[in-house]
Parts: sequence; C-alpha cells; structure tokens
Amino acid sequence: MRYGIIGGTGVYQPGDLPGATRERVHTPYGEVEVTLGTYEGKEVAFLPRHGSGHSVPPHRVNYRANIWALKQLGVETVLATAAVGSLNRLFRPGDLVVIDDVIDWTKGRPSTFFEQGPVVHIDFSDPYCARVRKGLVETARDLGLRVHHGGVYVCAEGPRFESKAEIALFARLGGDLVGMTSMPEAALAKEAELCYATVCMVTNWAAGMAAKPLSHEEVLEAMRENVADIRRLFFAYIARDKAVRDCACGSAVGGQVPLVGESEA
Ligand SMILES: [Zn+2]
Repeated sequence: MRYGIIGGTGVYQPGDLPGATRERVHTPYGEVEVTLGTYEGKEVAFLPRHGSGHSVPPHRVNYRANIWALKQLGVETVLATAAVGSLNRLFRPGDLVVIDDVIDWTKGRPSTFFEQGPVVHIDFSDPYCARVRKGLVETARDLGLRVHHGGVYVCAEGPRFESKAEIALFARLGGDLVGMTSMPEAALAKEAELCYATVCMVTNWAAGMAAKPLSHEEVLEAMRENVADIRRLFFAYIARDKAVRDCACGSAVGGQVPLVGESEA
C-alpha cells in the first residue's frame, strides 16, 4: 500500500477505484473505516476525514487514528483535500490551492503521537511535502486545471465560522486561507514520517470579505466542480508518481515512530 487519500468536506467517496473493498482498521486510538483499492496498479487507501456520513465535526476528528491507520496500511504518501474560506483576493471561490504553510490556531486538540516520550520535536519548517506539492502542481497544470502553488492555511478551532476581527487578524498574520482541519493532521503525518500534501478548494470568502454573502447554491456548485477536479488530479498524480521519496519526510523523527507492531489491521 502506497497512497492514502483523506477526503475533506464534500469528498466522501474515493471515486474511480475498481474492485475496492471497505475495511475497518483497528488503531490504539480507535477504529477507522477505509476503502482499499488499486488505480493503475498502485494501491490506494481512501478515508473520509469526517466519517462517511460527515458525522464528525472538525474539532472532534480522530486525527491520530486516521494517520495511524494509513501508516499501518503501509501508506507513504498522503493526499488530502480541504474546503476553505479565502482571505486573500488572489484566491477566489472555485480556485484550487496547493498550500505550503500553516498557522495553527486550534486549541487543545490531541496533536502528537509522542505523549509518553521520547521527547520529539519534529522539524516543521516545511509542513507539506515539497516533492508531492511539486508533483501535484505539475499534474494539475498538465490537466489544464487552474491551481495556485503556495498559500498559508490558518487552522481555526471551529466548529463555528470566524468573526470579522479574527479574519482581519489572520490576514495581518500572513494567512491566505482559513479552514478547521489541517492541524494537527499535517503534524501527525510528519511524525509518522509520511509525505503529506493538501489541495484546498476555496468555497467562499471569509467573514467580512464579500460584499454579499455567497448563496449556498454557489458554494455547492463550486464544490461539485472542485470535487471532480481534485479526484482527477489525485488519480493522475498517483498514476504517474515514480514513488521515489527523495525528500526528508521519511526520516522526520529518525525512525522513532512508535507505530509499527503495536497494533494490527
Ligand atoms: Zn516527502
């Protein structure tokens, strides 16, 4: 098993995975339901971040179980989606953004696998794998998709949306997009020594940014097109990826990952 897809809001089905089966993976943090299949000879594991019926709110997502399950299945590269609001005029509703940095504004979420020691401080200067980001952007351009490379994601705690003053603050801090799920997911993926990247779909302007609120229909329409584009992008990326991990992700904690052999699928 090599590739994992974490589907965010609006992405609850894996798409084109012939012969896919659903399995429950047992982890020390709880059970995770995943869909396993192959695409062009590559093994793919899909899991919907919020559960298959979108039943888990962002602050209650079992991020550790999700990442642990993928690691346990032998996944090395994780492609994630995230629906976001934009606070940068360059990133408009309907756009795709391969983010390259994050500001963590969450509160009290379990955010590490290393609760009991050893004391581990991962390098997080590059939260999203540069190799996978580059591959995603090249693939998107070859597919004719309009995609931005680079953007700072502010992870808010939620589940409420942000106030106008919070959005103004995030913009002053250098944020471009706001969502509720990329942390601790990105940090846990790094601790698990996975290559991890996220494609954001901008669904709306953040609070105080739009002259009039977007209609729900406009958001859904943008989302529908985006979901199809992201699926195409992910599968095209997987099909052509050489699976050569010439990045540092595979040694992020120097082999101290407390993941192997402590639980079984
Ligand atoms: Zn990597």
